[in-house]
Amino acid sequence: IAIAPSQLQAGEISLTKEQQHYLARVLRLREGDRFIAMDGKGKWWLTQLVGEQGQVLEALVVETELPVSITLMVALPKGSGFDEVVRCCTELGVTTIAPILSDRTLLQPSPQKLERWRRIAAEAAEQSERAFIPTILEAVAFSSSLSFANSHRYICEARGNLPHLKNCLQHQGQMTNDQELVIAIGPEGGWTQQEIESAIAAGFQPVSLGRRILRAVTAPVVALSLVSAAFEV
Ligand code: SAM
Repeated sequence: IAIAPSQLQAGEISLTKEQQHYLARVLRLREGDRFIAMDGKGKWWLTQLVGEQGQVLEALVVETELPVSITLMVALPKGSGFDEVVRCCTELGVTTIAPILSDRTLLQPSPQKLERWRRIAAEAAEQSERAFIPTILEAVAFSSSLSFANSHRYICEARGNLPHLKNCLQHQGQMTNDQELVIAIGPEGGWTQQEIESAIAAGFQPVSLGRRILRAVTAPVVALSLVSAAFEV
């Protein structure tokens, strides 16, 4: 289960009513049974159920993170497509997801949507045994989200004779620990020419993900799969 830092004090985890219900009714744990608690910020603990609380038995070492930090800027697709983007990209190791309001999708999500995506990210991180829960940023306009220091930046375009992201990652050379990758994925209607131009001006390299046109929900998954293929050993 994922816990907030304030729930852990002196080796005791004070479980919320919801967590007690989940452990007792869904997982059917009893007094003395063990479960794993995580804080989503790199720490995992083997924990024992004692009464309605958790007692930490030992800290666990979890090494499931990608060796590079990766931010995905994803133009918000219509409907509930973003739920799937958050779930799959968390499983694949994303560090940060920035929901983008692009020229062709001006769909300002409600605060409830942001809460929902954060919950999905936490659940997917638990399921994939991630050490970290990815950060889901508040939705911002594409133009106001283009300043990234110390990063390799790519913008995916479905058409044009562009270099493949796979080749760019291979030729990128060694990345230092404080560098990150930023990859931008457009909406169903694609990026506008103006968006592409401002991204290039901000240091983004236009890249292809292959010859077929991928759905806006599939493209982030393909991009992240290429990143893990290039960097994970
Ligand atoms: N309507 C657009 C068109 O016909 O050109 C296609 C948009 S596509 C459904 C949504 C987004 O996924 C694109 O903006 C791009 O970022 C990404 N994408 C999809 N297929 C891609 C590919 N083969 N190479 C690079 N990016 C791709």
